Order: sequence, then C-alpha cells, then structure tokens
Amino acid sequence: MHCKITVLIIALLSAFACTQSEAPKPREQGDLARDYFTFANAEHFVTDHLILDLYVDFEAEQLRGTAKLNMRRVDEHATEIVLDTRDLTIESASFFSSAGRSIGADFRFGEHDKIMGTPLIVDVPRTIQADPEIALIITYRTSPNSTALQWLPAELTAGGEHPFLFSQSQAIHARSWIPLQDTPAIRITYQATISTPPELLAVMSANNDPDAERDGTYEFDMPQRIPSYLLALAVGNIYFAPIGEQTGVYSEPELLEASAFEFADTQAMLETAEAMFGPYQWGRYDLLILPPSFPYGGMENPRLSFLTPSLLAGDRSLVGVVAHELAHSWSGNLVTNATWRDGWLNEGWTSYLEMRLMEVIYGKERAAEENVLGYRELLLDFESVNPVMQALAPSLETGDPDDFQGTIHYHKGNLFLQYLENAIGRKAFDVFISKYFTDFAFGTITSEAFLDYLDENLLSVHGGTVTRAKAEQWLYKPGLPDDAVIPTSARLDEAAAMATAWSVGEVDLEDVPVSDWSPQGIVHFINSLDAGLTTEKLGKLDQALGLSTSRNAEICRTWFIQVAERQYRPAYAALEQYLRRYGRTRLVKPVYEALAKNGSDLQLAQRMFAGARGNYHPLTVASIETVFERALESASELRDES
Ligand SMILES: [Zn+2]
Repeated sequence: MHCKITVLIIALLSAFACTQSEAPKPREQGDLARDYFTFANAEHFVTDHLILDLYVDFEAEQLRGTAKLNMRRVDEHATEIVLDTRDLTIESASFFSSAGRSIGADFRFGEHDKIMGTPLIVDVPRTIQADPEIALIITYRTSPNSTALQWLPAELTAGGEHPFLFSQSQAIHARSWIPLQDTPAIRITYQATISTPPELLAVMSANNDPDAERDGTYEFDMPQRIPSYLLALAVGNIYFAPIGEQTGVYSEPELLEASAFEFADTQAMLETAEAMFGPYQWGRYDLLILPPSFPYGGMENPRLSFLTPSLLAGDRSLVGVVAHELAHSWSGNLVTNATWRDGWLNEGWTSYLEMRLMEVIYGKERAAEENVLGYRELLLDFESVNPVMQALAPSLETGDPDDFQGTIHYHKGNLFLQYLENAIGRKAFDVFISKYFTDFAFGTITSEAFLDYLDENLLSVHGGTVTRAKAEQWLYKPGLPDDAVIPTSARLDEAAAMATAWSVGEVDLEDVPVSDWSPQGIVHFINSLDAGLTTEKLGKLDQALGLSTSRNAEICRTWFIQVAERQYRPAYAALEQYLRRYGRTRLVKPVYEALAKNGSDLQLAQRMFAGARGNYHPLTVASIETVFERALESASELRDES
C-alpha cells in the first residue's frame, strides 16, 4: 500500500495501514472514526493473526478449544489487553513469550453490557512487558445461547438426518464464539483446526478444499487479512458441486442440484466483476446454501458466501443476492467500513456494484426493475425511520449495530453513487471505482475519509460538477436531495398501469400479460393494486396467479404483506405456512408487522410467531419481538389517549 493514502485511513489504524512503527492516535469522545461497539484497547495492542483449534459438540451445543492471538504492542506502557466476549466461559489465559516459554496470566471480566457483551481483561505479565510481539492463548467454550451460532436439530435441515451449525458474525457477534478484538477497524489473517463428528463436513471463510476427505478434522488457512465480522464457520451434511473453474456450491445433498442450477451464472458474474472492478483478490469464490433459518439473504463471508435457500426459485430470478454478495468481495471485504455507522460504505457501494453486474449479465431492464423496487423500499423506510438515522453517515455512539443496517445504507447509498455516476459520466466514474479499490485494498475507511478522497480524486478533478457540499448533503442530511436520480422502469410502469386498470375493472385478469413479466414485474403489480379491493377480487387474483403457493419467495413476501394489510382472511392459512417455511428476516418480519398493525390481528400474529419461532435464528426472533413491543406500545398509547 502506498503511503500517500495514510491520512485517509482512520486515525485508529493509521500505523497499521502504512508503517508499523507509528503509534495510533488516541480515541476521543465524539470521534467519528472511533468504533464505539468494541471494548478492545486497540490503541495499546493490535491482533495480526488468529489460530483457532475448536471442537464442535452438537450435543452440548458448544464450541470448545483455544484461540491464539498473535498481537503487536503499539503502546509500550500498556499492561493489559482487553478483548470482546459475549457469553463465553474462559478456562485459562496464558502468554507464549518470544523466547518460547508459556506464562500463565491473570484475567477477569469487566462490566457486562446488553448490546456489547462483556470485556475480558488479561494482565500482561511483567516478564514480557518489553516484548513488541506477544501471543495470547485463551482456552474457552461458547454458550448454547451464543448470538452468532445457530445449532439446528436434524429435523430443521433439508435432509432431516444430521444436525447443522452455522455462524453469523456480522455485526458484533464474532465475540460470542471467539474472544477477540471485535471491530472492523482491525484486520487479521487466520488458521483453524475444526474437529467435528466424522460424518460431517466443516467449511469456513477460508481456503475450503472441494475434495477434502470427510474424516472429522478440517484444517483452514485464510492468508488475506479480514475484519472479525467475516470469520465464519458451518458444519453439517455438506457436499460440493462445481459451477465453474473458480466457483461452486456447497449444500446438503438434497439441495445440491437445484443450487447448482440456480447459481449457474456465478462464474460469469465473477469474470464480469473482475473486468469492471479490478482483480478478485480471494482465490476461489464458492456459495454455501444454508437451511431456511439463515436470517439474511446472504452473508459475504470471503471465499464462501452464505446464502438463504429462499433464493432457490427455480428460475434464477433472485440471483441478484449472489451478485450482491460477490460484489462485497470488493466493497466491504477488500475495502471495509471502519465502524458500523459507516455501513453505507459496505452496503451502498455493494448495492451499486450489484446493479452494475446485473446490468451486464441480465440486461439494463432487469437492473432497472430491481433499482425501482429498491427505491420503493427506501421511500417506505423514510416514512418510519427517524430523520437522524436517514443520513448515510449518522453520528452514532450508542444503539445496536444490527439495527443500523436498514435499507438506508443500501438503497440511499446506491442512489448517491448513481447520482455521482450520472453527474460525472460513467467512464470517469469507473476510473474512480478502480482507483478507490486499489488505493484502499485490505484497508478500512470512514465516511469522512471517503469524502476527502472523493473530493480530491473525483469532485475537484471534474471542476465542480458536483460540489463537496452536495456530497455532504447525501452523507449527513435526511431524505434525498432534490436532484437525486429517481430510478424508472418501463416494464414496471406497465405493470403498475395494469394493476390500476384491473383494480377499477377496465381490463380482465386474462388480459393482464403476467406471463410476459419478470417476478419483479409481478411484485410491482401486487404493490400497485388499489386499496379497497373486494375479497372476491383478491380471491380471483390469488387463484389466477397462484400467489399464495408461489415458489418465488419475493412474490410470496409481497403478496402476504398485502394479505395482512388488507385482512384477506382466506389466505391466512397459506400465510401461516409461509411464516413457518422461511426464517429469513426480510421475508417474515414485514408480514408480522403488517398483521400487528392492521388493527385486528396483533394477537393472531403473536400466536403465529409462537408456532414458528423455533424455526428462526435468534437475530430474526429479536427483530420480530421488537415489532410486537412497538405494536403493544402504540396500542397502549392509543388507549391512554381515548
Ligand atoms: Zn450486503
């Protein structure tokens, strides 16, 4: 990395990024570059390398073993190391001196915080106080309640015979399966030895071997530096099928063929992405298809994106999520947001790159359709998200980072970058993109550092076409600037016009050209139906288009939100089945929300949730519980007023 970019790397890690001798600046209150969601004293010690040796105990729902942290001292006076943990049992801590001696260490927990977990404080023995590099070895075990780990019994898997484990470390959950410095500001390499029941396979965000012998002991190496939220592990009855030279899918055997079909374009996507954004820096790119309780559409774990099986629509219509996770190989994994308040640098950039990839592989109209649907979700979010949080880069010192990642970071970030591209011109903007990923490769960046970089390398070069003040408006003000470029799609406009015409009886259902539309067109059609449609009309629609039984999870999602909002009770049984079938938060949470808010079905929604929650990930459960808490609060406020 070239030193001229030093000033642009966040203050916390400037020494790390450029030379290893400078001391980082101390962190101050109100410092936008500070990560408020870690206890780690990274101004004293920085981890460079992690070595895990873990046994996977499905019966106890527990990982146990050791984490060895190779750390570098950056403050010669520091006498203790503070690590992030959550619900970990620590059995021992010891240091390994540069002279090769093992030295036991005293340790204690600090004060527990509901969101951040519990700091683990380890005293550095006097005898190694002068060592510039030290190795800290912690023997520990996880709790069955680890917020990162989901232990699925066999009956919740596709095959039904073997249990399954998967991790979700983003945003601050790595600390619930590994004691470490859990901040995106620090990048580490890692190695791991994972021991499992011999019939199962372990895979990680590392160098998975498609031909690995299934013997219950698996070795991993991740030679590229990654932030802690990209540490990932899955164990189950997992098999591999190749897609292309560098790409393939891992899944339970029952889903392998469907997955290989659905994601067959992955190799082409990878090659397209390289041509557009610069070299892919991670070796292989594989996909892991998880059981339905995976809480997200996808998680960009490097070399191995984790994906929800709800993408298996049978027609490759939902592969935008793969384009998204792949694009994270540049925005997020290669160039990482310094703190979670800068999440738009990961998600906004990735949504923009996703759209560019979709455009090349599936055509402009398909990309435009997804763009319009994203814009619609953003407008809905603006109605409910408070103005402070509508800024791309709000000033945040408290709260739960899991709640920062609404669609604001994704869709508003995407629109900001589209705005820049539109104003400056695609050719010049593409040059900027490549330079950005080169200059910050394997680095970490704040919104403020990005703004300076943007100003210097794009805005000032193009003579005030876009002012710095305009860019600041995008970053720090709510809503959208007046001159934002609003996405449009001729095909979706047609679907919306048809929805209105059918709603008011101007056309018959048989004359609505649904078979010519993409699933996105059908989604838009459903969203554009008039309010106040009769039960009879909704029934005809459901029957004609097979909405309640659609294999496409996005069509079902849109339909069942409407079913709940309109209280279309004939479809409630199908709605409940849908809520049990999927665990992805995006798919189920808005349906519960619509039921909870429709004025009659809050209790019904709670009963449905009680029946389905066993299929959900703890993150999904928590977010749905929040929906009910808010609904109950507003119900009691209404009672108080009347
Ligand atoms: Zn993403």
